[in-house]
Amino acid sequence: MDHVRPPRPELESLIAYDARDVRAEVLLASNENPSNLPGELLEKLGERIRSMDFNRYPDPLASELRELIAEANGLEASNVLVGNGGDELISDLLLAWGGPGRVVVDLPPTFAMYGIDAAVTGTTLVSIPRREDFSIDGDALLNRLSGDDIDIVMIANPNNPTGTLAPETLLIDVLNATDALVLIDEAYFEFSRHTMRPHMSRHANLVILRTFSKAFSLAGLRAGYLLGHEDVIRELMKVRQPYSVNRFTQMAAAAVFRERPVFEAGISHLLRNRDMLIAGLGTMPEVEVFPSEANFVLFRVAHASAVWRDLLREFSVLVRDFSRTPGLEDCLRVTVGTEEEIQRFLAAMDEILARRHAAAHFGVHATAARHAGGRDRG
Ligand code: PMP
Repeated sequence: MDHVRPPRPELESLIAYDARDVRAEVLLASNENPSNLPGELLEKLGERIRSMDFNRYPDPLASELRELIAEANGLEASNVLVGNGGDELISDLLLAWGGPGRVVVDLPPTFAMYGIDAAVTGTTLVSIPRREDFSIDGDALLNRLSGDDIDIVMIANPNNPTGTLAPETLLIDVLNATDALVLIDEAYFEFSRHTMRPHMSRHANLVILRTFSKAFSLAGLRAGYLLGHEDVIRELMKVRQPYSVNRFTQMAAAAVFRERPVFEAGISHLLRNRDMLIAGLGTMPEVEVFPSEANFVLFRVAHASAVWRDLLREFSVLVRDFSRTPGLEDCLRVTVGTEEEIQRFLAAMDEILARRHAAAHFGVHATAARHAGGRDRG
């Protein structure tokens, strides 16, 4: 056959996740931890890999890791589900609670995978936009939930890419207002230090998502977990891929989780770096910087896409461009990196803005002013 019939019509409006391998010296686009695992842990993993049975399928439920996570959270193993990154678990939630004829609510601007997985699973997406300051429009959300047709609610807390943390009282109101499954996505929990875990016993409809990709430096291995009522976890097991979390990831994530106090100092350090990053951006009159409870900072600057391009091409600094996302016009998101990375990013921003200022002042095109060298941002 010289052609193939089209796939499901839902795919027509979808654009594949852009895994473009953009190379840069300073990687501040994906909210990763700037540090690899501590040397001792790396050595331990190296030793263990030698005796690993690569020819055998892994434990489908990652039992050792599951028990560790349950114990640390004062729960039973039956309340925990480990996945191939949080992304897989979000997909599982929509496979089980979404689907044709079912409705998911998200609160944009927010994590794009909720909408993408809704489209892939044929779930109707109802978006309730956040307010201008990125807080959740509680009245609109509670009002919509009273309609009783919602099957699942996705709330990233802190929200990505805005860094906003929702008031706990509002989240409790949401849990009381609906019997829909409510995902509180705590991917950045280790930075915000806020969790809805204490409310699990009262709310069978609460599920909490966490990940090893951020604070625990394991983005490359793909591990995340859900905490939820055992009945919810049982349903999710019906839709999940049985061997999605590989043997090596299970072992490494368990080792990291056992040693998690070791990561505390690094997390505190990143929080101090975040303050430095926010303060640095705050000195630039052209930049509006938003508060953040996570390991990234969102900011607004005129002609953001041009700034993004200059950061990459001229300074080899990669950040994330959100300027085409509704509600995030002229917004860029920068991950909290090391001090050196932040200094390099801030210096690059300074230079780009100074040049632009000089160009406006002297009435010349920005490229002609490129080497004007002025540090005065006026
Ligand atoms: N939820 C949110 C809000 C995120 O920002 C991310 C990572 N970008 C994830 C879930 C998924 O993370 P991972 O698949 O790496 O565990």
